[in-house]
Amino acid sequence: MELHVAERVLRFRRPVVMAYGELAERHILEVSLVEGDQVTGRGEAAPLEPYDGVSLERVSAALDLYAPILARGDELTGGEILDACAAADPLPQALAAIDLALWARAGRRAGVPVADLLTDDPVYEVMVNATITAIDPESAAAACVAAAEAGYQCVKLKVGVDGDVERVAAAREALGPKPELRLDANGAWTVDEAVMRIRELTSFGLELIEEPVHGIEELRAVRERVPVRIAMDETTSEPGAIASRAADAVCLKLTRCGGISGLLAAASLVRAHGAVAYIASTFDGPIGIAGALHAAAALGTLPACGLGTLALFDEPAGEFAVVDGAVPIGLAPGLMA
Ligand SMILES: [Mg+2]
Repeated sequence: MELHVAERVLRFRRPVVMAYGELAERHILEVSLVEGDQVTGRGEAAPLEPYDGVSLERVSAALDLYAPILARGDELTGGEILDACAAADPLPQALAAIDLALWARAGRRAGVPVADLLTDDPVYEVMVNATITAIDPESAAAACVAAAEAGYQCVKLKVGVDGDVERVAAAREALGPKPELRLDANGAWTVDEAVMRIRELTSFGLELIEEPVHGIEELRAVRERVPVRIAMDETTSEPGAIASRAADAVCLKLTRCGGISGLLAAASLVRAHGAVAYIASTFDGPIGIAGALHAAAALGTLPACGLGTLALFDEPAGEFAVVDGAVPIGLAPGLMA
């Protein structure tokens, strides 16, 4: 198998503002596994340096180490290829690209969607949240109205930036009582700040708040002092975090888990330790979103997943467009048509 790598740039419809800065576009690496003159599987590496500290160059260097392993991969199983790649460089963002391509290839060879290879009983429709990127209360409220009208049952807002209370209040008023409101602080606060801020926001009826603080013990400390469910996101990259029982829910990312295989293993661990798992993208491209959707389909009914994010780009979301608050998974062999 030959490994081909190409950079792809996805532009956001409008810049996304987060606690760690503003994003206008997304640079990812798409990989293809080529056998003979045929592409047999496609994958994607989507590091997000301000978020995970991993540059595109770092991923590219790992993929260079994987190429000779794939070149003699015809004699190896998919699992053996991944193990050999991990031994050469255990970078999850790069391993995810290979894992996705191998699953896509396996699905195409078997003539079935990848979800059907992962479980006997996939859920072919994954409920997703709307991600509201607007910061000023009026725009956030308008985006919430549009999301509710489009059928979303869960809306996610960024907090930890100026005007949190006004934005969340405007969002809840616009949504009415029913849709779930999820907040994400991306670790912007200290423990004491988080406790104070969350207490100010509790009356708006929150589904959960993601990563109010960074760190296992910090999350545990916040969770003990507030009446809102706490989810762990960025902190999952700390050793022992997933099994720490420090949060009520754990947000898993395909890229950070090393692909579909790692994502499913991590979800099992989350559940074994009494928390709820759900999946989100780090603004992945279409192949990463496809892989995460198939993994979600295999995990059964989950809280709304952050996998409707292709809608934030100026390219059409294609087969993974959100319909009535959910993304249907097609029956095309592999990951996508
Ligand atoms: Mg998050």
